[in-house]
Amino acid sequence: MKRVFLLVLLVPVLLLSGCITSNVGAPTAVPLNTSGNVAVFTPDQGATPDGVVNTLPGTSESEVTPIPRTPQPTDAPGKGPLAGVVICVDPGHQDTGLTEKEPCAPWGPEANSSVNNTTMKAKATSGTTGISTKKTEYVINLEIGLKLRDALEALGATVVMSRVDNSSRISNRERALMANEAGCVLTFNIHCNGSDNTSVNGVELYVRGVGDNTAEYAQRSKTDLALGQKLLDRIIAATGAKKRSVNKSDNYTGINWRDHTTFIIECGFISNPDEDVRLNTPEYQDKLVSGIVKFVTDDYMNG
Ligand SMILES: [Zn+2]
Repeated sequence: MKRVFLLVLLVPVLLLSGCITSNVGAPTAVPLNTSGNVAVFTPDQGATPDGVVNTLPGTSESEVTPIPRTPQPTDAPGKGPLAGVVICVDPGHQDTGLTEKEPCAPWGPEANSSVNNTTMKAKATSGTTGISTKKTEYVINLEIGLKLRDALEALGATVVMSRVDNSSRISNRERALMANEAGCVLTFNIHCNGSDNTSVNGVELYVRGVGDNTAEYAQRSKTDLALGQKLLDRIIAATGAKKRSVNKSDNYTGINWRDHTTFIIECGFISNPDEDVRLNTPEYQDKLVSGIVKFVTDDYMNG
């Protein structure tokens, strides 16, 4: 009897609050993670397994913080092992660089002057170009990024795309703040590498470095490095590419401004004739994506 009463009470509340699934722009359940530690969705974080905010009797609407979302071509199905997990997919670069400068990091030189991380950097660059295919990096990055979005959404994740076309005009800092605001717990920043030496090939990752020199940041960096090693192993297992390294760095705006675990994935060298061709095939892109997804489902979620 009591259960029936609760159901009767709950259904109109859900309807009135617009929280039934698949409405773009609705508040989204977010396992907030400002410490950089692994955050795994649990039901008591105020969300249903469908990944929607659940306004229970006794919880006023004002207590639910609406999370702004970027326009999504398709909404997350919200069911599956990644339901309730908010992930940013950030395909690097865009067709036009933004030469105006922005601060590379939120901290100042008094916190960290040992590396080139307190300078102003260009808001966005257009990246490199494939030596064989002549295809630009930002195009490949987006192709891989969209595949990754689809694969993560198919498992129920809520995916925030920093861009869904090549003509975006968004800075690296703006991309980072967008992910923070959306409550992302992970960002995959998709890039392709370049080198003057055309024989160089393989996959490498970047994670946060010394940062603002606090103990908390050091812990986040350590956590992200350990996760990065697992991610790189998954990508290598899936692709058969040469394993390079996971590098700590303070030089990337996209890492420095994010409040959650962020990986720059250099998916391969498009300055290498063979790797450039491989990176442009849907089959190889699928392998890359499957490695990243495997990391999320098997390493991150089980961490
Ligand atoms: Zn790049």
